[in-house]
Amino acid sequence: MAGGNAIRGTRVGAGPMGEAERGEAAPRRRVPFWCAQGHETPVSFASDAEVPELWDCPRCGLPAGQDQAAPPPAPRTEPYKTHLAYVRERRSDADGDALLEEALAKLRARRGA
Ligand SMILES: [Zn+2]
Repeated sequence: MAGGNAIRGTRVGAGPMGEAERGEAAPRRRVPFWCAQGHETPVSFASDAEVPELWDCPRCGLPAGQDQAAPPPAPRTEPYKTHLAYVRERRSDADGDALLEEALAKLRARRGA
């Protein structure tokens, strides 16, 4: 009988059982966030990931929320600055606008718009 040998390859623990199900095909969902300036930022989360209440707007650095009609107010005093805000502070407004334009252009190019 050859059955004894065939069973050996399927013993429990021989392979990563169950891991195939949570691999690359993990379902994702897009959650849009809106800041006080009306910027929409779609953020992708794994379906089982915890979605934060607030998300920093990548365009202006303001906090963005999931309610488009009632975005979180801009804080008067920021506990920390975004990189862009920090850069803008060190440059003139004109330079800052140019930087912003550049960033927006890159963003548009990435989206293929
Ligand atoms: Zn914004």
